[in-house]
Amino acid sequence: MQLLAAVLRQGSVSDLITDRVNREKGYVVITMRRYPRFVRRELRDEYLSTMSPDSKLHESWLSAKRRHHDHNGAFSRVHYENRFTVSPEGWADLERLCRLAKRKTVYLVCQCRVGDRCHREMLLMLAREIFNTPAEEPKNDYPDFKKRIPGFRRSISRQLPRSA
Ligand SMILES: [Zn+2]
Repeated sequence: MQLLAAVLRQGSVSDLITDRVNREKGYVVITMRRYPRFVRRELRDEYLSTMSPDSKLHESWLSAKRRHHDHNGAFSRVHYENRFTVSPEGWADLERLCRLAKRKTVYLVCQCRVGDRCHREMLLMLAREIFNTPAEEPKNDYPDFKKRIPGFRRSISRQLPRSA
């Protein structure tokens, strides 16, 4: 039976620390390039670096953000939507979490505040478009990333061959 509440959602590290998101409300997955400071392991079910931006993209975004004190502006400055990709291991993890999200709520957690631009929103788009998973609507638009989804779909069907 599919529960109505089962869905892929997003949350922030601050949601975790203040208990707005917790392991009773859903399966908590931290998806970040590096493990966040001050987050006790009991607060999360999994930490994954596989679905986060590669180090080069992460570092260039971080330095643009610091230089201009502009979280969201740094996304366009470094052409994030055109550069963000998911590793082969990341696709396998995302598919696994999408399967889980059909049975229970799964939270994708990153440092970014909910409402800010974040790679986890692009993961929500991939979950909806590629794995037909009930996923929360992103709070921002990612038009350039959206254009790349058909290409991802083609390369995924080669990587993860499934019988009909
Ligand atoms: Zn983020």
